Amino acid sequence: MNVSDFTSELRERLEAIKAQDLYRELRRVDSAQEPRLELGGKSLLNFSSNDYLGLANHPALKEAAVKAIERFGAGSGASRLICGSLAPHHELEAALANFKQTEAALSFSSGYMAAVGTICAIAGKEDIVVIDKLVHACIIDAARLSGAKLRVYPHNDLNALQEILHWAARQEPTSGKRRPHTLIVTESVFSMDGDVAPLRELVELKEKFGAWLMVDEAHATGIFGRNRCGLAEEMKVADKIEIQMGTLGKALGASGGYICGSKMLIEYLINRARTFIFSTAPVPAAAAAARAGIELVQSGEGEARGHRLWAGINQVEDALIKSGWDLPGVRSAIIPLMIGEEAQAVATTLMLREQGIFIPAIRYPTVARGEARLRLTLTAGHTAEDIATLLAALAKLPPTKCARP
Ligand SMILES: *Cc1c(COP(=O)(O)O)cnc(C)c1O
Repeated sequence: MNVSDFTSELRERLEAIKAQDLYRELRRVDSAQEPRLELGGKSLLNFSSNDYLGLANHPALKEAAVKAIERFGAGSGASRLICGSLAPHHELEAALANFKQTEAALSFSSGYMAAVGTICAIAGKEDIVVIDKLVHACIIDAARLSGAKLRVYPHNDLNALQEILHWAARQEPTSGKRRPHTLIVTESVFSMDGDVAPLRELVELKEKFGAWLMVDEAHATGIFGRNRCGLAEEMKVADKIEIQMGTLGKALGASGGYICGSKMLIEYLINRARTFIFSTAPVPAAAAAARAGIELVQSGEGEARGHRLWAGINQVEDALIKSGWDLPGVRSAIIPLMIGEEAQAVATTLMLREQGIFIPAIRYPTVARGEARLRLTLTAGHTAEDIATLLAALAKLPPTKCARP
């Protein structure tokens, strides 16, 4: 074998991906995250970002990042446990715990890292991890890597979950080992479907069966709840969830991931979460920007941005339902426009791009085969005019919509 054999093998694999309409490539963006982006020399209205409150390019976050660079430098030098535990990380974690009203918090370099580090630290070979069928790839990867027995329940199917928990409660320890524990992991708002988990019922079930619950609030933090803490706040179950997780890279406008919970949980993760222990600390600028994002979400401006976002969501969903789209029963900033066929979804994206609208096609393996969709997201930065342009472009699409699975 030599290098050219290797590259020709990869070429063949890529051809197979293309033949299935599943080929992906990067699209270079020459502007900041804003309602308009510069893509391929063209200015497009951006309905694809997870920057739900429009904070990624906010002056307060940028200023916090610049100040942190000036005081603490560009890099962080080492992992947190060596010498990289800089003041901005500690300040971020204090802000997170205060925001989520938990005893403590721990930040990671990404949400992906937070999921992998935490799930693998909590669950091992002797344990059971139970996940919703539609959870994010980072949770699936984490559950597999943990070595725990993995059980998957159909999306939001509480009866199926109850059966699994019944089975799990009857598992005996393998000789001489501790009793197996069961960890349920769900998202609160699902990233590609925009619908929500029945958190109250999940809490009841996990209490009944003595399981633990981890909730990923990646798409709910900053959007749901009176203080915009997330869906757990809105459903009044936050203090009943063992592990609250999220990202600093979506509504909070910066980059990184977090875990919020008890002091014991955070102390344990500092000792056992390998993605935390064996990775260089996030750069000071990222921690400082995230902290500024959290403070902004909690401010009057954060509240106003939340109202603006929800007004846009309601306007777009009302219009789409009127024109026959099948949307989730509970609203969020993620609006899936179900297409079905992969090639059709890509063609629809291109058609919209011709009209100056950017909405990405989401295909397998991000979603199931034959469930391709356009994933339309709104942010607080979209104006009434932007939304009118979007709705006019969507109205011109040929009728390709299919029912939600
Ligand atoms: C984006 C996302 C993550 C990963 O967070 P990053 O900070 O981007 O690594 C985790 N869970 C869900 C549901 C997400 O959508």
